[in-house]
Parts: sequence; structure tokens; C-alpha cells
Amino acid sequence: MSLLVENQPTTSRGAVSVRGVEKHYGNVQVLHGIDLDVAPGEVLVILGPSGSGKSTLLRTINHLEKVDKGTIAIDDELIGYRARHGKLHELRQAEVLAQRTEVGMVFQNFNLFGHLTVLQNIIEAPVHARKIPRAQAMARARELLERVGLADKEAAYPRQLSGGQQQRVAIARALALEPKVVLFDEPTSALDPELVTEVLDVIRSLAESGTTLIIVTHEIGFARDVADRILFVDAGRVIEDGTPEQVLASPRHERTKAFLSKVI
Ligand code: ADP
Ligand code: MG
Repeated sequence: MSLLVENQPTTSRGAVSVRGVEKHYGNVQVLHGIDLDVAPGEVLVILGPSGSGKSTLLRTINHLEKVDKGTIAIDDELIGYRARHGKLHELRQAEVLAQRTEVGMVFQNFNLFGHLTVLQNIIEAPVHARKIPRAQAMARARELLERVGLADKEAAYPRQLSGGQQQRVAIARALALEPKVVLFDEPTSALDPELVTEVLDVIRSLAESGTTLIIVTHEIGFARDVADRILFVDAGRVIEDGTPEQVLASPRHERTKAFLSKVI
């Protein structure tokens, strides 16, 4: 399989800053004041038990969910708000959508458009949201398909592909708008075990290319290899934040130890 090797210079693009983020669903508080900084080009892996708020945190970073309190900024640009005269003003829908295109997201269940071909899936946002000329979007999509090892599948429909292939298309699609940050929410959890490696290999080479990545996963071996930093989240709080060595080999908290003893 051809791997993603992108020789983009590692620039200051893609810094994520999360400050005091709180989120409730009804009366239930899901995020209890999350603080988090991700440096440009950094690969952050988030671990944590089911229901601890990992997906919610990713969804707030992509503004698929509004926060109740706190702020999120990407390269110093507030997500969803504009600061003026010391106050935050909500952005309009169109402005939010434009901001959202700066963050790529890859979901557990791929979320491809079933009625569109692979190529159409990838050019959809560039052509319709970003108004990139169709021919240019197609050329870029073909490059991306090459990089995820699926150059021969551009005319296929999602249902004709394996889960691993669908997820690689989803990754190509997430990259089509040249996002500053790519978020992965358990990208291999829905895959048969023998298809996990092909997807992790694509993410690994993306990590090496200098793109800022935030990856929620239960693949501890992968996290150890690829992460610059690991966060352990439990019950909506960051419990542990350190290098893979620190968090995996010598976790400081009992809850981290208990979790790791189950998944390793
Ligand atoms: P994780 O991804 O770590 O498994 P989630 O962020 O999906 O956790 O969920 C955190 C908590 O928020 C869970 O208790 C979940 O049931 C609840 N939750 C998530 N999404 C919603 C929603 N749209 N409405 C109500 N509760 C939700
Ligand atoms: Mg989740």
C-alpha cells in the first residue's frame, strides 16, 4: 500500500487550545472543565472508558456541539465566537461552517455518503462548501486516494468496499479540505481485526507528515508508537496528561491503572 508521505513543512499551523470547557446534556454534566493544549504537528491520543466524554470533547472541538462554558481556539481563532470589547459574540451559521472546514473528522462508522462514489464523497465538501473548481478537486481527490492506497477504487460505492477501505476513504475525505487539525473518534473500533492495521498505517503516516492529530482510540500499542502525548479522560475530566512512557508505563492515578489493566 502506498503511504501518506506529505512533505509539507511543519509550520505553526494547527494549534488547539481548549480552556475550561464544560458541557451538559440536560442535567447531566459530561465535561467538567477541560483544559488542553495541542501544539502544531503534535499527535495527541485520548484514552478513557466508555461514556467518559471523549466523543463529546471531539465534537466540541469541531463545533458539532456547543460548549456551555469555556472556549476552544484553533490557531488563536475562537471556534463559534468572536471576541469584541471583552465579550464573546456568537458567529453566524455560515461562519461556523467555514470554521468547521478547518477541522477534519473521522468517525467510528465512516459516515460516508452511501449514494455517492468514492471520488464523489471526497470532492463533495471541496466543491460545495469551499467552491473549489471540480477538476481541481478531482485531481486532489485522486492524489489523496493514491496516498491511502485506493487509487483503483474511485468509482466504487461505499457498500462495495471493506470496512478498512471505507475508513481509508473517510480519511482521504477528511484531508480534502487541507484541515489544520484532524480528529479521529475510535477509527478502528468498527473494523474486523484483520482490517485494523491498514487503517492505523494510514494514520501513522499522516502523523509523520506533521499534521496535528487528536485520536481517540483503544489501540494502546498504536498509541504508544504514534502519540507525542497521551491524555487519560475519566468522567469528563483529564486525569492524566503526559508522554506515552509516563501515562502507559507509570500512570499516576488508580483509575488510569485500572483502565490500562483492562485494555492492555
Ligand atoms: P465516550 O465517547 O467517552 O464514550 P461520550 O462523549 O459519547 O463518551 O458520552 C459522554 C456521556 O454523555 C455519556 O454518558 C453519554 O451517554 C452522554 N451523551 C453523549 N451524547 C449525548 C446526547 N446527544 N444526548 C444526551 N446524552 C449524551
Ligand atoms: Mg465515543
